[in-house]
Amino acid sequence: MLQKKICLLGAFGVGKTSLVRRFVDTIFSDTYLTTVGVKIDKKLLTIGTEQMALILWDIAGEDEVSAVRVSYLRGAAGYLLVVDGTRPETLDTAVSIQARVGAEVGDVPFVVLLNKADLQEDWAIPQERIERLEAAGWAFRRTSAKTGMGVEETFQELAARLAR
Ligand code: GDP
Ligand code: MG
Repeated sequence: MLQKKICLLGAFGVGKTSLVRRFVDTIFSDTYLTTVGVKIDKKLLTIGTEQMALILWDIAGEDEVSAVRVSYLRGAAGYLLVVDGTRPETLDTAVSIQARVGAEVGDVPFVVLLNKADLQEDWAIPQERIERLEAAGWAFRRTSAKTGMGVEETFQELAARLAR
């Protein structure tokens, strides 16, 4: 079976762990504790007629760019860059993480998740910033780990890109 490692990356509190939990278990909790260390989950998907196992690496704690260690990234086939749509500075973090990761693992596919899309009234990321990054080749998807919106589709989409 095709097996692919995917890293979850992004600033503290953007929803990485929540997204993995939503995707893997299809549940969401407002109260579970922040993970410590690296958490590895597995999800089986069917892409076309092929079975694929996604091995999801979720970095823990308050670490951001500084914690994106080579050992965490090694062997990653792709990654998800998570942004909190209510905190524009988390997009800045994503931009610097992407630059570092690109230098570390090369040109592997990634998707940017604009998470917390359920918090419409607090949304704070200017559309022009998104459009500028899209023009540079970034793929954005709006997600909510809380409602589940966009989550399954975005993981599926990245998996499909890795299967090619
Ligand atoms: P991480 O540090 O990136 O792993 O972030 P967590 O998954 O621990 O989430 C941080 C906080 O944001 C938690 O209180 C979550 O319940 C909350 N959260 C995560 N995703 C969403 C979302 O899509 N919508 C809302 N409203 N809250 C979210
Ligand atoms: Mg976490």
